[in-house]
Amino acid sequence: MSPIPMMMYASTARRSKPLSSQVSVSRMVIKYRKKAVKGLKYSRIDVVGVRDIGGDLSGEIETIGIEVKRGASPFATAAGQTLGYRVYADRVYLADVKETAFSYDEINIASHIGIGLIQIKKKKCIEVLSSPVYKPNVRLNLELLENLTIGKCQLCDSFFNIGKDESSRWSNLWRTNIIPAVKKDKGFMFWNHEVADRKKNLGLTKAKGDGTFERRFICPDCIRYFFTEFVESE
Ligand SMILES: [Zn+2]
Repeated sequence: MSPIPMMMYASTARRSKPLSSQVSVSRMVIKYRKKAVKGLKYSRIDVVGVRDIGGDLSGEIETIGIEVKRGASPFATAAGQTLGYRVYADRVYLADVKETAFSYDEINIASHIGIGLIQIKKKKCIEVLSSPVYKPNVRLNLELLENLTIGKCQLCDSFFNIGKDESSRWSNLWRTNIIPAVKKDKGFMFWNHEVADRKKNLGLTKAKGDGTFERRFICPDCIRYFFTEFVESE
């Protein structure tokens, strides 16, 4: 099990058995944030984890989707649901609250279709089977992360916190003018119109007229390092 810290976010909906607000998967600390994964168009993931895997040379992260099995629901059905999360996440796990270990058949099924298994026992999470690494759909993965108030910086490629919570998703970002972002030590959000126009011509966006939904982010570090000089020399 990896010792790398992982932040976890969870929806409380549909879960048949309550999870504690803080449990540990081996040495990984897991924290939950309620209602954080609502609003996904095609799925609703019970628990989402985000883990730093970039070492010292990159801000790369790994997204982990976890399905929490509901009571007596068939194992293979829950396993299939779990596998579907790979369009959103790099790794996918099925978690079950159970006193007894997963059976040989259950481990065999999970291993065969390519999902990981987590046993939740006495508020502890035990990784029984590791998930393979998948390549999620970029758009759906970024939408999931934005739902968790995590965005990708266009300059340094790192992922960072763009807001406080679901209701203030972009609160760490300044918009429209980069100078206040520099002065207030914030990140910056800007809109790409050229890409929006291209998509409008192809009927791929709901944006109309001069509007655009193409939002991009720059992290506070990049703002500080690359733009402070320009603002101070104004
Ligand atoms: Zn950056």
